This record gives sequence, C-alpha cells and structure tokens, in this order.
Amino acid sequence: MPELPEMETYKNQLLQLIGGKTISDVEVNRAKSVNLPAGEFKKQVANQSVLDLGRYGKALFFRLSSGQRLFLHLMLGGRLYFGTKEDAPDHTKQVILTFGQASLFFIGLRLGYLHLISPDEFEHHIKGLGPDALNSHLTVEGLTKKIRGKRSPIKTVLTDQKFIAGIGNRYSDEICFAAGCDPRKKGFEFTEDEGSRTFKAIQQVLQEAIQFGGYMDTPLFKDDQLTGSFASKMKVHGRAGEPCQHCGTTIKMVEISSKKTCYCPVCQK
Ligand SMILES: [Zn+2]
Repeated sequence: MPELPEMETYKNQLLQLIGGKTISDVEVNRAKSVNLPAGEFKKQVANQSVLDLGRYGKALFFRLSSGQRLFLHLMLGGRLYFGTKEDAPDHTKQVILTFGQASLFFIGLRLGYLHLISPDEFEHHIKGLGPDALNSHLTVEGLTKKIRGKRSPIKTVLTDQKFIAGIGNRYSDEICFAAGCDPRKKGFEFTEDEGSRTFKAIQQVLQEAIQFGGYMDTPLFKDDQLTGSFASKMKVHGRAGEPCQHCGTTIKMVEISSKKTCYCPVCQK
C-alpha cells in the first residue's frame, strides 16, 4: 500500500502536471470508486480546475475551483498514471480525469476510492486520524510521551493511523531500523532516548524516501525518472535472509499483529 512518501511524490509531481489545469472530461468505469452516482460525479467534476493538491497521511486531495475537493485513498493495489490512452498501462482504469490532451488514470481502485467532498466533509474524512507524520507541530517530547502511553509494540504503534498518519508496513520497518529499536518493543518500555531516536528516524526516513520518489514500481508518467527510486535504498524491509548493511547479521522476519516485519537482531535492541 502506498504510504506517505509515495503520496507526497504523487502530489509534488501532479502539481507540476495538472496544477491550474481544467478537467475537460470525466470517465467513471466503476461506480463504487466514487461516492456519487456516476452522472452526478461527472457533472460536478467536469470543467473544474485543479487549484492545488494536498496530502494528509496516506490520502491525497485535489482542491477544485468549485471549492469542493476530490479525496483519494489508493488503499491496497491502487496507483496513478498521467499520459495519453496510448501510453497508459494496460489495466482497468476505474476513473479517468482528462485535461485536454492527457489524462490522469486511477488504476486498481478496488478498495481505494475517489470521493467528491465539501470542505466540511473533508474534516470528517480526516477526523479520527492522528497527526500527519511530517506535521511540523509534532515534537520529540510530545511523540515520546504518546509512545510511552502505549502497551503495544512500536511496530503496531507506528502503523496505527489513529496514532500517527502516513506510516505503513514498509516505512515502519525502516524507521525502527534507523532508530535502532526492536520493532517488538512495547511503547511503555521506551526510554526518552529511544523516543527521541524514533522521532528523528520518522523525519529522516520519510524525507529521504520523498527525495528519492518512494517505492512505487510503476512510473507516474512516460519519462518519470523519480518515482520508485527509494525501493533499492530500503535497508531491512523485504530483505529477510540478506546480511544487514550495517553489521552483516542476517535480517530476520517476524509477524507483529499479523504484519510481516523485517529487522536486524543486532542493530535493533
Ligand atoms: Zn545490523
């Protein structure tokens, strides 16, 4: 599932591609992917301009000139492609927004969705989510205190969207490794120092992943050289059985709350 860095990469690139542009046509091929009857959705979205794009946790939203927003959650298997019908991947496109010559294709939206909502409904959509993991108001002290109030393993704490929004299975592994913390260690067992290391690791890992375009294995557009470059830079996730890049010990995999978790038994205490 795309996490914060993947959605931030989409946001930054889409701003360049469709920011300020007008949606000339709308195609809904799967009624369940949108929240209004397809005809009504098309009527309200067509001819609107995309004024801006934003992100909250793993969700992306498009601010339309009408004041409404398109709220996108890709969930599992969803992805985006921008280009012409000819160069788009040969997969079912649940929704297509056309901007003159090129279109934005929403692919693999089976669990994911694209909802047209008002600013008030936006508040409702993000209600219940924790602060965005890169929210500038998050502090070392605040986060450490919250972690220490938890009885669950840090892996579970970090991937709980109600606790902090944007981190999933992949980046939680990388964050625990960067912090030098055993992913099974419970929140209340964390020292001030471990809390501080975790805070720094969240910022560092997510920012670096954004810099390298996240891990998505398909490009957003034809000559996209950025998307997915971080996949090869992951240090523990998906590397069970390989030697740790830091100490050479074999990376292990365990299940924590039914999430496959990779870690180095020597570097992470
Ligand atoms: Zn190691």
